[in-house]
Amino acid sequence: MRAVPRSTGLPASAPDVKGWCPGAHTPMMSGDGLVVRVRPWLGELSTTQALGLAGLAQTYGTGVLELTSRANVQVRGIAEEDHGRVLDVLDALELLDESAAAEHVRNIILTPYRAQSDAFDHEAMAAALMAGLLRPDYAALPSKFGFVIDAQDQRHLQGISGDIRIERGSSGVLVRLDGKAEGWSVANVDEATELALTLVSWFLASGGVGSDGRGRMARHLENGAVPPLPDTPSVTPFETAKRRQEGMAQDGAIVALAFGQLSAAALTALADAAGEEPLRITPHRTVFVPNATTVPAHPDLILEPNDPLLRVTACPGAPGCSQASVPTRGLARRLAGHVPIDRHLHVSGCAKGCAKSVACDYTLVGRGGTFDLVEHGAAWDEATRTGLSPDDALALIED
Ligand code: SF4
Repeated sequence: MRAVPRSTGLPASAPDVKGWCPGAHTPMMSGDGLVVRVRPWLGELSTTQALGLAGLAQTYGTGVLELTSRANVQVRGIAEEDHGRVLDVLDALELLDESAAAEHVRNIILTPYRAQSDAFDHEAMAAALMAGLLRPDYAALPSKFGFVIDAQDQRHLQGISGDIRIERGSSGVLVRLDGKAEGWSVANVDEATELALTLVSWFLASGGVGSDGRGRMARHLENGAVPPLPDTPSVTPFETAKRRQEGMAQDGAIVALAFGQLSAAALTALADAAGEEPLRITPHRTVFVPNATTVPAHPDLILEPNDPLLRVTACPGAPGCSQASVPTRGLARRLAGHVPIDRHLHVSGCAKGCAKSVACDYTLVGRGGTFDLVEHGAAWDEATRTGLSPDDALALIED
């Protein structure tokens, strides 16, 4: 092993935690311009919408689109003076909420693998929930407070953040709070909506939101909050499904992307493969193409689960993100082939760890122009090595 500096015991770095997510109405300024995040309704993009977004990214952005862990699509590098025109394009594509407030509360993720034959109508549930959330009473919900609708016989979204979850168990559909093992049984979409909104109201009224405007359900429960218990039995949700792998399947294609990014040309190719079907953006930062029997070859589109690029994760890093002191994705590409098949490497521009909020085998964290290494931890955990150059990092991964 190459001699490299040991940890000083210092935290990796102190990033500026913004505590809110960008939207289309409320873009975030980054190192390469505005980041505009689009929340496709139901996580779906029609062919027209996909082609329109591809054109928007080429005309106003960097030409590259990014998928997020909330099943959203974002375009980077937009000039401030173009923001109004970008909103006009999104509006014409029916990809724009009527207001920033509506966009703010529409944090609902549905399983991308839902089918029309499902006993529970996921899309009707999302529509009913959204209609309720538009009430002014819910405007104070933190922007990261979210809902997960995953009510099939196996759960596909267990690892996806969601404060209130609509799932399925042996006695039917249930509503479950994040942090609780069991939920409350409901008969149908109407009951599920009513209970979910009751729990949202309780969260707000019982101090779930701090003075900084932030708050999550699991933390609120950990702090001793006791939810109002409806007079129905508690039920355990079904088991979590094994994560579906990239590649062709009976019900369509699951397409991965290095770093969750795809060029406008790759999005156009996917839209062509989808035909009349909408593309479904998954919170695993993949694209599900329902009923596709083939996907065109394109360097951005990964259909092989053992592709080395799927063993690495990296945020935009420098110069795209103003909080980063190091480039990240070039290093991640360089190291990918050296990461053992059963390991994962996260290269993070700073200790915020935007691209992966869970522990990894190796996490390289930028700080002051070099990298710290966190082993079996997240970007904000204590580093075991500091001051690493890219060559140092390569030597350690190979060791
Ligand atoms: S983790 Fe990456 S994207 Fe997030 S703030 Fe830090 S440098 Fe920027």
